[in-house]
Amino acid sequence: MMLTTLSTTAQKKFTEKEVAAMKQQLVAAVGSHAKDVQVMVDKIFSFSELGFQETETSAFLTKVLSDNGFKVEKGISNVPTAWMAKWGSGSPVIALGSDIDCIPKASQKPGVAYRAPIVEGAPGHGEGHNSGQAVIIYAAIAMKEMMEKEHIPGTIVIWPGVAEELVGTKAWYIRDGYFKNVDACIFTHVSGDFTCDYGDGGGNGLVSARFDFNGDAAHAAGAPWRGKSALDGVELMNIGWNYKREHLKPTNRSHYVVVDGGDQPNVVPSKASVWYYFRERTYEDIKANYEAGIKISEGAAMMSGTTVTNQILGTAWPGHFNKPLAEAMYSNIKKVGMPKWDDKDMAMARAVQQLVEAPKKDNYGKPIDGLRTKEDTIKGSVAFSWGGGSDDIADISWNLPTIVLRYPANIPGTKGHHWADAIAMATPIAHKGSLAGAQATAMTLFDCFTNPKLITDAKSYFTDVQTKDVKYIPFITEKDPPAIHLNKEIMGTYREQLKKFYYDETKFGTYLEQLGVTYPTYNR
Ligand SMILES: [Zn+2]
Repeated sequence: MMLTTLSTTAQKKFTEKEVAAMKQQLVAAVGSHAKDVQVMVDKIFSFSELGFQETETSAFLTKVLSDNGFKVEKGISNVPTAWMAKWGSGSPVIALGSDIDCIPKASQKPGVAYRAPIVEGAPGHGEGHNSGQAVIIYAAIAMKEMMEKEHIPGTIVIWPGVAEELVGTKAWYIRDGYFKNVDACIFTHVSGDFTCDYGDGGGNGLVSARFDFNGDAAHAAGAPWRGKSALDGVELMNIGWNYKREHLKPTNRSHYVVVDGGDQPNVVPSKASVWYYFRERTYEDIKANYEAGIKISEGAAMMSGTTVTNQILGTAWPGHFNKPLAEAMYSNIKKVGMPKWDDKDMAMARAVQQLVEAPKKDNYGKPIDGLRTKEDTIKGSVAFSWGGGSDDIADISWNLPTIVLRYPANIPGTKGHHWADAIAMATPIAHKGSLAGAQATAMTLFDCFTNPKLITDAKSYFTDVQTKDVKYIPFITEKDPPAIHLNKEIMGTYREQLKKFYYDETKFGTYLEQLGVTYPTYNR
C-alpha cells in the first residue's frame, strides 16, 4: 500500500526509470566538481579557524555561494561569521548544514603520521570540520542545475555550524526564527564511516556556562587577611562539584577549565572564572545538573566571601533524528558506495592508527584496521547508552525533521579533538570521502524535491513519534547573546602566522603539494 502511493507520487513527474537516470546524472555532476571539493576542503583546513572567529572561512564560502547564484544573508543571529544562503523559490524548503570551526592547539601538517604542527600552538582541524561545507555546497550546486533544467520547484538553504565545538549557535538560529519555514534539514558530519542513523543515537546534550567570581584584591603577603580571593571561589566550586559527582548518574559527563585564575601570586585575585560543560542524556537531567552547579557556585562564593554570576555560552539538546529521511539517505549511500581507497590511503590510515594506539575494535565490535571498505549499517535509537558527546544540531532536530549524514572522510579509531584527527583532513582520504558524501547528499536532495511523500512521512515521524511525548524547551532565553567574544584572543595570536600557510590553489595542485609533503609520510 505504502509503496504504491510512493511510486504514484513520484510518477506524477518522473518514472522510476527517469528517477534512477537523473540520480546517476547527479552523481556524475557532483563528480565533475572533484577538483572544487579538494580546493574547498584544503582551503578551509589551511584557515584553521576556531569557533566564532571563522572570518576567512565565512568570506570564502559566502563568495562561492553568491558566485553560484545563492542569495546570502550574512551575520544571522548577530554572529558575524554565520550566514543563510538561499536559492530557488517555493516549497519544499530544504536546508543543508555543516560545521566550520576547528580545535585549539591541533595545528598539524596533513599526510604526516607524527607530531608536526604547521604553526606551533596554533589551532587546527582536529575534528575535520573543514570538509563538510564541500559536501553540501557541491551537492546543492549539482541539484540546483538539475532543478533549473527540469523546472523542479523548491528552495535550497545553506547555513554553517559556527562554533560547533562551543555548541554556540544552533539554538540561537532556532530562537531567532531562521528555521521557521524550513521543511527538512540535512546535516553532514565527518566520520570514518558512511551511514545515516536515526532516532536517539545515545549522545548527551549540555549546558556550557562560565562562572565569574568577584572578590577583593590585597597584598598577598602584606595584608592577605584583607583580601577576598575570587580564585578561592573557583577552587571551592570545583571541589564542591567533584564531591557532587558521586551522586550523579553514570551518564553524566561534566568537565571544566579555569579560564581566569588571577594575575600574579602576590595579588589576591579579585577576579577568577571557571567554565563548565554539564552533559546528560535528557533535558531534565542537564537542567538539574546546571542548577546544582549554580547552587554549588553560590556556596563557594559564600565560603570565600566573594560574589558569583554565571553566563550561558552554549547549549545543545540530546539528539534525535528523522527516520524516513535517514532511510532515504541510507539507500543513496548504498548507491554511492565507499570511496575507492588506494594503497597510500590504507598505509596512511594504518600509520595513524598505530600512532594513536587505536583500539582493535570500535564500540560496535567492528575491527579497526585501515579505512572502512563497506558502508556501515543503518541504526535506530539505542536501547541504552552510557552517554557521550554532543552537537547542537540537536536543537534543530527538535524543531524540524533533521538527519546527520556521516561521510567517510577521516580515519577510524582516532581519539577526536586531537591533532592526529587532522592528519587525513587535507589528503585524498578527505577529498574522496567528502565527494562521496556530496553524491549521497545530492541524491537525497533529489528525493526531497521530487517525492512529496518523503516530506510528509518525515513530518509525521517528527510529530507522531519524535515529539509525541518530548517537547523542546530551549536552555537559552530571549536575552542570552551568542558568545562571539570566545577565541578572539587565541586567533589574534596565531592568525598572522597561519596566513603564511593559507592554501593557494592558483599555485599548487593540492595543499600537500604546497607544504611539500610526500603522501603518506610516517618516518621522521
Ligand atoms: Zn564535529
